[in-house]
Amino acid sequence: MKFLKPNYEFEHFTDVSLDFLRNHNVKAIFSDLDSTLAAHDELGDDEFTKWHEKLESNGVKLIVVSNNSQGRVDRFTKPYNIIGNGMCGKPLPSKIKKIMKEVGVTSEDSLFLGDQLFTDVLCGKMLGMKTVLVHPLGEEHEPWTVRWKRGLEASIKKRW
Ligand SMILES: [Mg+2]
Repeated sequence: MKFLKPNYEFEHFTDVSLDFLRNHNVKAIFSDLDSTLAAHDELGDDEFTKWHEKLESNGVKLIVVSNNSQGRVDRFTKPYNIIGNGMCGKPLPSKIKKIMKEVGVTSEDSLFLGDQLFTDVLCGKMLGMKTVLVHPLGEEHEPWTVRWKRGLEASIKKRW
């Protein structure tokens, strides 16, 4: 079960603060998109815009890694000029490994951020990164397939 247990659990992506990033030597955040940075199909809101500005001005790279379509990812990332990758095939780490090489970062200076154990946390762990689990944004609007997984996640968490 230790491959499903995140290193840190926060309420919201803004809880990943500059202090936290500095203390953990994080230079790049690999982040899920849907329910992590925005509710399903939504664009970045003011909170996201401010958080992203802080990362940028402190030299922390944000890289979106989603299993959703490239079109969905582009709609979110383009306005911010963020590197965005769709169809990542999480939890399989191969595509993200390639992206890490392109960006020029290692597991040691990277953080994986996401809202799901079976895709995000597992993927981050397989990549050897520190992992942060956040509470899903807009949970009530999620597709039934995701909600079904939430039930499984809850039963795993009970055993921690
Ligand atoms: Mg998600």
